[in-house]
Amino acid sequence: MDTLTTGDTDKLAGALRGELITPSDRRYDQARRVWNGDIDKHPPLIVRCADPADVSAAVTFAAERGLPIAVRGGGHSVAGQGLCDDGLVVDLSRMRAVTVDPERRLAHVRGGALWQDVDPATQAHGLATTGGIVSETGVGGLTLGGGIGHLMRRCGFTVDNLAEADLVTADGRLVTVDAEKDPELLWGLRGGGGNFGAVVRFGLRLHEVGAAVQAGMIIHRLDDAPAVLRHYRDVIADAPDELGTILNLRLCPPIPAVPERLHGSPVIAINVCWTGAGNAFLRPLREFGRPLLDTVGPMSYVDFQRGVDKTSPAGKHYYWRSVDFDRLSDPVIETIVEHASRITSPLAAVPVYHLGGAAGRVPADDTAFGSREAGHNINMFGAWEPGDDRDRHVAWVRDFSDAMAPHSVGQYVNFLNDEGTPNVRAAYGRRRWERLVALKRRVDPENLYRFNFNIDPRSPDEGDT
Ligand SMILES: Cc1cc2nc3c(=O)[nH]c(=O)nc-3n(C[C@H](O)[C@H](O)[C@H](O)COP(=O)(O)OP(=O)(O)OC[C@H]3O[C@@H](n4cnc5c(N)ncnc54)[C@H](O)[C@@H]3O)c2cc1C
Repeated sequence: MDTLTTGDTDKLAGALRGELITPSDRRYDQARRVWNGDIDKHPPLIVRCADPADVSAAVTFAAERGLPIAVRGGGHSVAGQGLCDDGLVVDLSRMRAVTVDPERRLAHVRGGALWQDVDPATQAHGLATTGGIVSETGVGGLTLGGGIGHLMRRCGFTVDNLAEADLVTADGRLVTVDAEKDPELLWGLRGGGGNFGAVVRFGLRLHEVGAAVQAGMIIHRLDDAPAVLRHYRDVIADAPDELGTILNLRLCPPIPAVPERLHGSPVIAINVCWTGAGNAFLRPLREFGRPLLDTVGPMSYVDFQRGVDKTSPAGKHYYWRSVDFDRLSDPVIETIVEHASRITSPLAAVPVYHLGGAAGRVPADDTAFGSREAGHNINMFGAWEPGDDRDRHVAWVRDFSDAMAPHSVGQYVNFLNDEGTPNVRAAYGRRRWERLVALKRRVDPENLYRFNFNIDPRSPDEGDT
């Protein structure tokens, strides 16, 4: 970075329709802020791109000078991978447009869009695709790493719906990939994260979902969680693909859907999203035990998707880990309830996702996504107020994930922290990892795109290890 001159940066700024922000700029502190307040990075150059040509200009500038590149999509990476301390940030946050082609059932989504941009646009046609459960999350990072959400059992993971993409590769070229044009690169984008370029357009397949779903939460006391979980295990064993459920063990958040008397109480919530006909399949879940609250009913999919946004506000401090596991066996239930009952903050949460269905049936080699066969994913989501004792909250997350480790059958990359190559490699598994390394060597041999769950092109071949 020492070699950058004012002439260099002026030249870059002059080539942009968007903005170049450097540390002396009054907008700098706002521009380097991401969702996780625990992240404090100081990138020397932030390019707020207005269009794909800006992305090309920024990447070409970085490539000519050997500067590593961070790509910021929605800024929701817990590890803060949309920023860097030493390199150039391609900030896509101004590029959020979404258009829908109802004939092709395809959404064209700009690289910096959030799910709250996508859902209303697709729902205007009664269509939807699997998106994140918090609508403020970026489409970019979520899609490239996998994409689990309420519709995954019916529509597959988000990566399974990535049909085409435009991206700027490490040499600054804007390329389009689809099943015909460079299918190997499309395969890599479907799970390999931001390793292969800055994606400026995602072509996402859409499904007929209708404007309303049967959705809401069934909330029980945490004391009742062992019985609730055993019953839930039996119900979901035969669940049709149209039934999406995500559990959440936490202190009840102060959101409008929940009466004030419950705020702060330890609970287990079953978040339900049913997209099938009738509602008979919901009955066994709704009629069990003595729920404190049951909000399930017809509601707009867009509203449902925004329902928990306020529970993980930007600017608080966050740290997480996660584990994929097969089934809610009695020992797993015991471990989950024991650690959830020691939760350290009203902002913390323990979401448990029910995987499988359509997502589980996609052939393993169709995408780079790592752990498709797992039955569930559990996320230990630590969160605290700025200035609070970080170590206490992080210790809870680590103890919890260590206790779940014996039950682990894999890892979801998007729920990793910055944990280094061995964990990333383990998340993909040996065969996928080798294929990803070969692709990385072809499209980004200098590893310019390295602020991600990095696939280092210099990784030794398996034969060498
Ligand atoms: C509150 C919260 C809720 C979440 N819920 C879910 C969920 O329901 N399901 C789920 O699967 N995940 C979920 N996640 C995890 C989420 O998928 C990841 O944090 C993801 O990285 C966020 O993407 P982003 O674009 O917002 O992040 P960023 O911080 O902007 O980027 C994250 C990574 O993706 C890369 N990237 C982003 N956009 C692009 C692009 N256009 N081109 C190339 N690379 C890009 C970045 O370079 C970086 O490496 C959640 C995260 C949070 C914080």
